[in-house]
Amino acid sequence: MNLKPTTVPQITLSNGMTIPQLGFGTLAVQPNRDASTANAEITASVVAKALEAGYRHIDTAQSYGTERGVGQAIAASGISRDDLYVTSKLANGNHAPDAVYRSFEQTLKNLGVEQLDLFLIHWPLPTLYSGDYVTTWKAVAELVSDGRLRSAGVSNFLSAHLERIIGETGLVPVVNQFELHPYFANRATCETCLQHGIAIEAHSPLGHNREPLSDPIITNIASGRGKSTAQIILRWHIQRGDIVIPKSVRPERMCENMDIFDFELGKEEMAAIDTLDRGDTGRVGPHPGTYEG
Ligand code: NDP
Repeated sequence: MNLKPTTVPQITLSNGMTIPQLGFGTLAVQPNRDASTANAEITASVVAKALEAGYRHIDTAQSYGTERGVGQAIAASGISRDDLYVTSKLANGNHAPDAVYRSFEQTLKNLGVEQLDLFLIHWPLPTLYSGDYVTTWKAVAELVSDGRLRSAGVSNFLSAHLERIIGETGLVPVVNQFELHPYFANRATCETCLQHGIAIEAHSPLGHNREPLSDPIITNIASGRGKSTAQIILRWHIQRGDIVIPKSVRPERMCENMDIFDFELGKEEMAAIDTLDRGDTGRVGPHPGTYEG
């Protein structure tokens, strides 16, 4: 495999571990979420191209059906385990503590790794499991003490969910991965993360449905700089300090999305993109307060 040297900055997390600020998302890189052998081959081939493009941080989830394919690509790459950062997420059906432990074992097997870098509760599910995501959080955090997990975090947690798990356990997640892009700046959640030293990881950083990619303000900045709108949006995230995990199945876009470290947006350009926030109407994915998976 022809591997490019990687230029991605590292972010230091509150537990002292580091994470590459830009990673590769694997939601919908295969035609459906079935963890079939055919799908694993499709995902393995997409992730192999991402590794060739220079990505060293891969985001997967139990529910995407992509863990096996990610594992196959890692095994075939010859890249040292220490040079890779792998995140997975607990599926919504696995919130009971015994299911946390059992499914985490399966995640390690699927990925072919002995230790995972980051494991997140995928959704808080406050209307399920008697609203008890605190017990789930304790079980996920425990995986760190037994050595098979480096960092424990959450995903799609709103301020109230974060305050509750921190208040009731004293354990602060190192990362919160949530929807964040120019049309949905998710300010309240960002504020709570900053207050507690939780790293902000933007999922759907390009807006998922790609609507911000044709925004006139972003298009204008892009044409003035000879960059694509995707590069402008990802650079905006990087300068805010967000961790980003754009997804593309196309090698040319994988490279384009990584090629954002040779320019800097000015204060006015950053501020112009900040004005695009539509508040809650900019949200594309489900609302974490009501989502039941
Ligand atoms: P993104 O914001 O990354 O957008 C992906 C879309 O943009 C795809 O249609 C892709 O198409 C297209 N695209 C990518 N690069 C470019 C480019 N340079 N120019 C034009 N179009 C481009 O959406 P996702 O929702 O996939 O989010 C990224 C990752 O975040 C996911 O893969 C997943 O890992 C994570 N995620 C986590 C969630 C959670 O609940 N924790 C929820 C949603 C996502 P194409 O592939 O054809 O290039």
